[in-house]
Amino acid sequence: MSIANKYAIKSKAVIYQNELDYISKCVLDYPNIETGGDLFGFWTYSGFPVIQYVIGPGKNSNHEVAFFNQDLEYLKEVGNALRETHGLQHIGEWHSHHRLGLAEPSGHDITTVTNAIDNYNLGKFFLVITNVQEESTGINGFMFKKEQGRIFDYTGWVVLKGESPIRAFFDSEYESLVYKPKTTNSSIIGLSEVSLNDTNYVKPEYVSEYWLNDKSNHLALKNIIEGLSNDFKEVKVFQSDSDKSIYLKFKHKEKEIALLFPTDFPQSKPTLWEIANNEKQLLNSETTEWDSENDIVNSTISFTKNILEIKPKSFINKLLNK
Ligand SMILES: [Zn+2]
Repeated sequence: MSIANKYAIKSKAVIYQNELDYISKCVLDYPNIETGGDLFGFWTYSGFPVIQYVIGPGKNSNHEVAFFNQDLEYLKEVGNALRETHGLQHIGEWHSHHRLGLAEPSGHDITTVTNAIDNYNLGKFFLVITNVQEESTGINGFMFKKEQGRIFDYTGWVVLKGESPIRAFFDSEYESLVYKPKTTNSSIIGLSEVSLNDTNYVKPEYVSEYWLNDKSNHLALKNIIEGLSNDFKEVKVFQSDSDKSIYLKFKHKEKEIALLFPTDFPQSKPTLWEIANNEKQLLNSETTEWDSENDIVNSTISFTKNILEIKPKSFINKLLNK
């Protein structure tokens, strides 16, 4: 399970493992140029997309270094067939930023999607952006809603095991229409997974000046989580309802600990709490040193370890991996 962006996830998408694998293989067919396709399925009551079938690029699609245009005749033909045989709707599209870009929407992508929502009077649209990292693919989902304009929601994947029931039927019934990736094995890294019941994902709305409004600090938070995960178990991210600040929870010696980043962090130090029976008790945060000018990743990790009295591992123990 990836922790990247998990703190910002506020929507979900349901997809079969096999359809994610299909996207991955399509992406790896074009590691140095854009490619893409479309997503078919339906929407849940809560407004989450359920992806039943993914298509790749049509024969006449346009692959360029900086953009991809689907073959619209192809999209129409496959779309009609999927609607007639399974009542599926066109719910979104995917494209790859290959090795050149992040698996996040570009400004141009945001404009394209918001224009489509306006022009075709869609309530919402699901965009999947992929990239190529080494020999693997990153696959991220983004939910666009008419009322939110250019603000999109990071989406966590609810991955259903196995194969979509539509895949086997459609691939044999409409064999000539289906793009068959040349790449035989999928490879997906950093997938943001959530469960269908999980409501712990948090909203990325912060007070102004909050450190996480600066996107470069998203990586810092990720590194803090990874650093703490070396010494603590089950490090998870939450957001406070009252002031929208972010806090981490983790296990230490059977105790539950919370690490809070106040609204004026890093000018103010983080605070550390022990949580028991729904009550929280401040741990020694006041007297522990905090240098707000230092690198916030290392400062936060050493601050936490000082309070919880985690000694640096000795060299020999490191070798023995103890
Ligand atoms: Zn793009």
